[in-house]
Amino acid sequence: MIEFKNVYKKYDNNENIAIKGLNLQINDGDFFVLVGPSGSGKTTTLKMINRLIKQTSGEILIDDENIENLNLQEMRLNMGYVLQNIALFPNMTIEENITIQPESLKWTKERRHKVVMDLLDKVGLPREYAKRFPRELSGGEQQRVGIIRALASNPKIVLMDEPFSALDPISRNQLQELVLKLHQEMKMTFIFVTHDMNEALRLGNTIAIMRTGHLEQIGTRDEIIHNPKNNF
Ligand code: ADP
Ligand code: ADP
Repeated sequence: MIEFKNVYKKYDNNENIAIKGLNLQINDGDFFVLVGPSGSGKTTTLKMINRLIKQTSGEILIDDENIENLNLQEMRLNMGYVLQNIALFPNMTIEENITIQPESLKWTKERRHKVVMDLLDKVGLPREYAKRFPRELSGGEQQRVGIIRALASNPKIVLMDEPFSALDPISRNQLQELVLKLHQEMKMTFIFVTHDMNEALRLGNTIAIMRTGHLEQIGTRDEIIHNPKNNF
């Protein structure tokens, strides 16, 4: 379980407070969606979970352990990260892009190849794509590779920051279906950031609505649908 306890974040170069007393629990295996307008603090919240940025005050716990006490490398191995701008390395093949993390570089060539093949199957890409370069793939296909890369070290938690917002509606729809399938199959905790309420309602088991650095509402999909306080 991930817990935020009265977390505040103020950036040094910004007089506004980005996160204002956030209390939050994310249960293991949940598909947790953070939704809210631009600037409401979604990305800041996500980045604090894997310590890309540090909160100004308050505590963040994973399984009752303060994340500041966890070994950073080990912690990051247990967290995949899917970015909005897919950010594959253009001069590396798909296989090399997927197995870029230090952990997978320790594996034998055979094991690495097997993981890549299995994951290509899982996300519905042809196996021969392993040898291709990112520019030879469509945007939607590249983001499938982005997802594979996040899953390659078999993490417990996958963080996704607006991963589909740069895609056309058809690809976005297919990838939403894909992450729902992967979540069912892989039993990981998915934490997904979006500004799109329809996407949030389609994907989330738990939905947290953020506005100007605090939670406006949090609940199951049904609770949110039947008690819509939000109007953005
Ligand atoms: P969202 O992901 O919901 O768009 P962010 O977490 O990116 O929101 O931003 C929350 C607030 O923090 C905004 O007011 C934003 O301008 C500010 N902010 C985000 N990143 C930085 C930064 N690196 N430096 C200063 N202010 C930032
Ligand atoms: P998003 O809306 O997708 O969360 P933003 O466009 O708010 O992203 O931010 C893009 C990048 O710029 C992020 O890395 C964020 O931390 C940074 N950033 C956002 N707001 C500010 C700000 N006011 N000052 C400095 N950096 C910022």
